[in-house]
Amino acid sequence: MEELKTNKADMLAEVAEAIVAGDTTPHLKATATQLVFGAGNPDAEIVFVGEAPGKHEDLKGEPFVGAAGKFLDEMLASIGLKRPNVYITNIVKYRPPENRDPTPEEIQEFIPFLQRQLAVIRPKLIVLLGRHSMSVFLPELKISQVHGKPYRRLGHVYLPLFHPAAALYNGGMRQTLLDDFSLIPAIIKKID
Ligand code: URA
Repeated sequence: MEELKTNKADMLAEVAEAIVAGDTTPHLKATATQLVFGAGNPDAEIVFVGEAPGKHEDLKGEPFVGAAGKFLDEMLASIGLKRPNVYITNIVKYRPPENRDPTPEEIQEFIPFLQRQLAVIRPKLIVLLGRHSMSVFLPELKISQVHGKPYRRLGHVYLPLFHPAAALYNGGMRQTLLDDFSLIPAIIKKID
């Protein structure tokens, strides 16, 4: 009899396999190099949810490994964290061609898989990076008004932040993101 999979890493691998074996966004799968499922610690207290893989992520098979990822690493370090302490993923798990925004339909197709990922990890805090990610969980809110404020919904706590790519060429945005990031340790403590 096949062994029951109870370990979180195995359970996540099953979700990734289900995407690869299924027909989610076949048009993106056809043009992408590979699936970019997620990376980090399946026992993490914090999960970061970005938008979709870009060129570097598509080539490496890992989320946030380009310029926006470097800034994300910097922000993690500013609160004493490293990548292996957290879990990082995107809503859409195949690269949209030419780095275009994912469409609402593409986002919808991937939501069940993101929900399964989160159900396995059960993080204390889900950090939503950018408005696309926020639109999935807090659709009625405006990121410019709510960034840096935690929201509790159906047993989960969400923290919307600006997308790190938005800060790359905007010094003001960069400082806003660093300021919002600095709130994370206190937010986590309050959830305890
Ligand atoms: N931007 C994202 O939203 N996700 C990545 O993985 C890289 C850049």
